[in-house]
Amino acid sequence: MGSLVVPYSEKFEDYLRDESGLVGRAESLSFPDKETEVQEIVKTMRDLGTSLTVQGGKTGLLGGAVPPGGHLMSLTKLRQVKGLAGNKLVVEPGVTLQEVKQVLAKTNLFWPPDPSEGTATVGGVAALGARGMCAHYYGDTARHIEAVRVVLADGSCRLVKRGELWAGRDLLDLFLGKEGLFGVVTELTLLLQEKPEEKWGIIFFFSTESEVIAFARAARKVEVPGAYVAALQYLDRHIQELLRKSRQVVPRLQKLPELMESGAGMVYVEIHGAWPGVEEVAEALMEAGLACGSDPDTALAVSGEAEVERMRLYRHLAVECIGLQAKGPRLSMDVRVAEGALEAVLSGFRARCDAQGIKAGVMGSLGSGLLNINILADNEALWQRGKDFLLDWLEAMKQYLAVGGGIGKTRRELFAKLAGDEAVQGIRRLKEMLDPQHLLNPGNMV
Ligand SMILES: Cc1cc2nc3c(=O)[nH]c(=O)nc-3n(C[C@H](O)[C@H](O)[C@H](O)COP(=O)(O)OP(=O)(O)OC[C@H]3O[C@@H](n4cnc5c(N)ncnc54)[C@H](O)[C@@H]3O)c2cc1C
Repeated sequence: MGSLVVPYSEKFEDYLRDESGLVGRAESLSFPDKETEVQEIVKTMRDLGTSLTVQGGKTGLLGGAVPPGGHLMSLTKLRQVKGLAGNKLVVEPGVTLQEVKQVLAKTNLFWPPDPSEGTATVGGVAALGARGMCAHYYGDTARHIEAVRVVLADGSCRLVKRGELWAGRDLLDLFLGKEGLFGVVTELTLLLQEKPEEKWGIIFFFSTESEVIAFARAARKVEVPGAYVAALQYLDRHIQELLRKSRQVVPRLQKLPELMESGAGMVYVEIHGAWPGVEEVAEALMEAGLACGSDPDTALAVSGEAEVERMRLYRHLAVECIGLQAKGPRLSMDVRVAEGALEAVLSGFRARCDAQGIKAGVMGSLGSGLLNINILADNEALWQRGKDFLLDWLEAMKQYLAVGGGIGKTRRELFAKLAGDEAVQGIRRLKEMLDPQHLLNPGNMV
């Protein structure tokens, strides 16, 4: 056991942070490469009464993998690809998204969740329920996982398959999207899908938010046999402006076409399917764009896997640019907007920001009504003002909003405000039942 757990020293400094901007501390670390080692470490920490933070690729944006003291267990060495059979791929949690893509490169299959950061691990993506842009069509991450093996807080290990009930709920959902609160995932059975034959991407620019919403409405109605809109991603004008301004400091942006200025930002649409359906969808979208006020001559259109990956980079690099401009932890919230309320929520948010002098950038899926709100605060006073602003806004808009993404450590207060006491107490009760010593991932979610 001694050799499995090493005391913290400066050479492990990188393990104290993720992409949230938070920096933690740890007294010891471990890098298990077998499930039995995970069990042994969990049991040891339980006996010592030492809390344990689980870490994957540490690319999370919310501090979930940042240890608040105690022990840090990195799963980056638990990274075997165990086997591909039919449409199922069994992997250990430390396998990265990049590696999953490599394994499947020569097949006609892919795993739909794709939060765009290739160094993220499958375990981290599953624990956060990270979706990526194409969840508009392919659905939430949990849909693409059939089973997990999990080490519980008492050190025991079990296989959990979709459909097993516990206390009236699907047991698998306790380990997916629950940020490692109830167990350490040590193996996952991923459900794969057939790769679309064709992928196209188009960026449209708009002058007003009403145009954006009208276009989203039209795009959602486009129906063509054999092809579909997989992503309908909005980057508002503040995010677009940030991308334009960051060109000098982010080399990868220099390899992309320079973005024009626009009054309300841009919408990235990704089309998947077979020929000629993809072309028909693209034509319908170009017509919808024109009808909604977007100049077709300014649209950026590409086709093919490599070019589409390049277009997706704007969204990916926007996340990086937001992190670069922040002087402290990221201040953001993911919300799911009630059907039909998107325009009112977006315009209300913008009016409130302008009235109170708050700088914020909004991204998100217009297809599923999921918005990622980012307060762009580059000093502490603005950060605090931004946080109070967000709390007030969530309170005011409660009837139209639900929690739409991960919580980690940085969004706990915002989560409590939006989800309410009952939801927080519900998670605490489950924690009490499954991990009464509060051993696993302390400080996450509640
Ligand atoms: C540039 C960039 C772009 C991004 N874009 C998106 C995006 O478009 N959409 C999106 O949803 N996300 C996005 N993300 C964030 C994304 O959620 C994370 O990158 C990813 O899901 C986290 O994986 P990870 O392996 O780095 O996990 P970590 O950050 O290491 O951990 C995340 C959480 O999972 C827990 N965890 C990790 N492994 C396990 C395990 N085996 N068992 C139990 N708990 C575990 C950790 O304790 C922590 O709470 C982006 C991040 C970056 C840096």
